[in-house]
Amino acid sequence: MTSSEKKYNIIGYELVLLIAILTGIGLWQTRNSTPQLIAHERNPVGIMGTSCRIIAVDDGSSRIDVENVLIKAEKKIRNIEALMSVHLDNSEVSIFNRSESGSIPLSLDTRQVLFHSLMMHRSSEGAFDITCRPIIELWKKASKQGRIPHESEIQLAKESSNWSMIEIINANSNVKKLSDIVEIDLGGIAKGHAIDKALNTIWNAGLKGGLVDVGGDIRCWGESPDGLWKVDIRNPFDNGVCAQLELTDLAVCTSGNYNRYFEIDGVRYSHIIDPRTGMPADSVPSVTVIGQITAFADAWATALSVLGKDGLSLEPFGNYEAIIITGSADNCKVYMTEKCSDYLVSDFPDGWEVTIIHR
Ligand code: ADP
Ligand code: MG
Repeated sequence: MTSSEKKYNIIGYELVLLIAILTGIGLWQTRNSTPQLIAHERNPVGIMGTSCRIIAVDDGSSRIDVENVLIKAEKKIRNIEALMSVHLDNSEVSIFNRSESGSIPLSLDTRQVLFHSLMMHRSSEGAFDITCRPIIELWKKASKQGRIPHESEIQLAKESSNWSMIEIINANSNVKKLSDIVEIDLGGIAKGHAIDKALNTIWNAGLKGGLVDVGGDIRCWGESPDGLWKVDIRNPFDNGVCAQLELTDLAVCTSGNYNRYFEIDGVRYSHIIDPRTGMPADSVPSVTVIGQITAFADAWATALSVLGKDGLSLEPFGNYEAIIITGSADNCKVYMTEKCSDYLVSDFPDGWEVTIIHR
């Protein structure tokens, strides 16, 4: 080999080495310039009588004050609770319930929830009914006295539970009480509305993703640091987890008779009332509804607890999906709408019979 060939080879090796180093640096820079997603979490206590988790996802590249966004989202939930809780004397709902008939001044949030409740009452053929507070109160009072309400008491309470005693045209106009006795309970929809409002706060801030969870009802949006958001479905028979969902840009709400109930003579009765009979709706241990808007998913979960699987074929339920768990731990039947399979990433426990409902 001549000296010029040797030189050429050495330059060749150096060139290859240089290219390799530059490629390495390039790859390293590319990897490091892909922003890592970071989840910021806040777990405020004492909200709506249950647990709460607010998550906002950021990639660290923006100047957004994420902690402040989380505080704002929490405030939104507390505001809705202050307006709509029947347990707070000064809430708008309590004032509405105490007021005599006439036009009642209400915030836009409360008017919206009342209007959505009216839509839900119609869509669910009366199964979702916020005017059933007198029946709920009757069962609460009777359970404290350790007795089942008398048939005549149930009839009387049913007579005071009636949408025709409230006039509401749309969310922008005043709400009128047409009778002194009508009372409302927004326990089946206010939580969902609060979740929607809190999630909007995160979304409006221009972050990458977020999730709001109040007592197991959630709405998620965008990305989590691990991709899709994971949501567990509780096993109503043993408090464990019976399935897991992976999804995004959706609300998931569950109603069940295992968490909150009246106990009379050692027997548990659901806190959800069938407004048509005035009796607790006890035939469905758990209903999970998946859909776009949390307020409606929340209300549909309550409505389907009353209606059971027949409710799945109601036309207005068309844009929502549901998983209904019926029966008992050793004879469990699951009914779920077809699209739920797209979100499920685990099987139900062995022995559970799963029926897919095609609509
Ligand atoms: P949870 O609050 O445990 O998530 P739900 O979302 O199903 O349960 O709401 C149940 C609450 O809704 C009850 O505690 C009561 O305040 C109210 N409620 C009960 N029965 C009905 C009904 N048929 N329609 C509308 N609201 C109801
Ligand atoms: Mg609900």
